[in-house]
Amino acid sequence: MNPRIEINTDKLTYNAKQICRMCDEHGITPAAVTKGFCAIPQVAASLVAGGIKILADSRIENLKKMRTLRTRTMLLRLPMISQAETVVKYASISLNSEWKTLQALNEAAGNQNRQHQVILMADLGDLREGIMEEAELLELVKRMQQLKHLSLIGLGTNLTCFGAVIPDENNLGKLTELTKKVEKQLGRKLEFVSGGNSSSVYLMMKNRMPKGITNLRIGESILIGTESAFGERVPDMYYDAFQLVAEVVEIREKPSLPIGEIGMDAFGGKPTFTDKGIRKRAIVAVGKQDLATHPVKSLEPGVDILGSSSDHMILDITDAEKKYDIGSEMKFFLSYGAMLALTTSPYVSTQLISGGLKD
Ligand SMILES: *Cc1c(COP(=O)(O)O)cnc(C)c1O
Repeated sequence: MNPRIEINTDKLTYNAKQICRMCDEHGITPAAVTKGFCAIPQVAASLVAGGIKILADSRIENLKKMRTLRTRTMLLRLPMISQAETVVKYASISLNSEWKTLQALNEAAGNQNRQHQVILMADLGDLREGIMEEAELLELVKRMQQLKHLSLIGLGTNLTCFGAVIPDENNLGKLTELTKKVEKQLGRKLEFVSGGNSSSVYLMMKNRMPKGITNLRIGESILIGTESAFGERVPDMYYDAFQLVAEVVEIREKPSLPIGEIGMDAFGGKPTFTDKGIRKRAIVAVGKQDLATHPVKSLEPGVDILGSSSDHMILDITDAEKKYDIGSEMKFFLSYGAMLALTTSPYVSTQLISGGLKD
């Protein structure tokens, strides 16, 4: 069924192996982040096959879908008190910053006779979640000792999300310093020092990862092979494990300049055009309802994307190497945002494929 997203699970297993190897060289255990593909269990299984031991997602519904894989699970978004019971049921670990939430999780864990593991989040400048003051963090650590059904297993931070702050020796160094103070206060070692997401992967690539970081929560780098601090490719990965396939519904020769007075387009923007004369165009049946405004790139040689409205994407196929007809399929390379939107859209189907690995 079109449009569809093709997911190559062999390529993902390969990517997971590569990330596990890279992390291992730096003393890091990666958690694979599954929200980019809505935690489709068979896709998550391909990451586990590549050596991933922890699956992480921001939605508890997604962790629930993957429970048959029997890995440790990590909830990435701060838990809602109203979901405390499901959080302790389906997440082995959650990231936290609020005393009230910790109390609710403790109570829920007690009700279910479980021990729930907690990572406390420190805000090192990105200004999304986390505690900013060292004294407040140490106080929370102290208070947590009353909560018998919770185990504090680590500290974590999140960077390059809201404030686009790049992880470096300075901010991640602060996290390892904080960890030492918490460990001293507790008189024991913490298992997790969780130093961020795919934007921290470049520090491993450049051999600059500060000592003492023991975990990263990695989505983008495993799924599309890029680090997210500078958008560079991680070497020797597959960058096209996820592809969008859309179907041609019109092919016509049209002028490159619209005819008439130019007002606003369907999304309130004012478009500009350059005159290239008469061009051969194709329309494929996919649009902003499926992709929002996240970019995709044509995988068809010589085909340019001109733009899209809610349900149509318009392409210039004048210089295309292949011949297209009504009903032909065209393939596109996905950005991480596009993957997230497409796998969430009820109008887009998913198809798992395998094979196609180089030598
Ligand atoms: C989404 C998310 C991640 C993973 O981010 P990527 O850029 O996909 O690696 C890590 N940590 C938290 C808290 C997240 O919400």
